[in-house]
Amino acid sequence: MQCPFCKAPDTRVIDSRLFEDGTQVRRRRECTRCDNRFTTYERAQLTMPYVLKRSGTLEPFDEDKLRRGIEHALFKRAVTPERVDHAIENVKRQLRATGEREVESRRIGEWVMDELRDLDHVAYVRFASIYRSFEDVNAFREEIARLEQLPTAEARRSQLSLIVGETAPAPTKPPRKPRPDRQGS
Ligand SMILES: [Zn+2]
Repeated sequence: MQCPFCKAPDTRVIDSRLFEDGTQVRRRRECTRCDNRFTTYERAQLTMPYVLKRSGTLEPFDEDKLRRGIEHALFKRAVTPERVDHAIENVKRQLRATGEREVESRRIGEWVMDELRDLDHVAYVRFASIYRSFEDVNAFREEIARLEQLPTAEARRSQLSLIVGETAPAPTKPPRKPRPDRQGS
């Protein structure tokens, strides 16, 4: 690397250590000509694919925009920031894993919906209603119907407590025979 002081082309690495949880390498360098020392930071360049929008335009992946979309769907829902971060990381990981230069925004939307489905059903429906309305209203209705068949996390818990719990539900009484109607004509 070029010396920032005298512009000599050769500098020597005199120390090298991991920095910021191993995501960066910090190097101390010394110029072989003027003996000045300086520090460089290296970070692996993870290139994100471009997002191909429905309109056909390409734009750089915008993590803030992704976060805003997810947080908007989660408005006033009890989901911890850690789980939101985790969802965002999952989407980014899938985006990188494609290894493609361009990824359709539709696919990113599907990944977001997968994450929201795990996080919170209400948020999922909010996101899907905005997102899918552009495509196919019927597909969205089917999705809602399907979702309504799924037990909520709470329902799953109460079912579980019925299975493992000590108190069995009271048996339902057989219906009484209807009394003969004395007030009839
Ligand atoms: Zn120098």
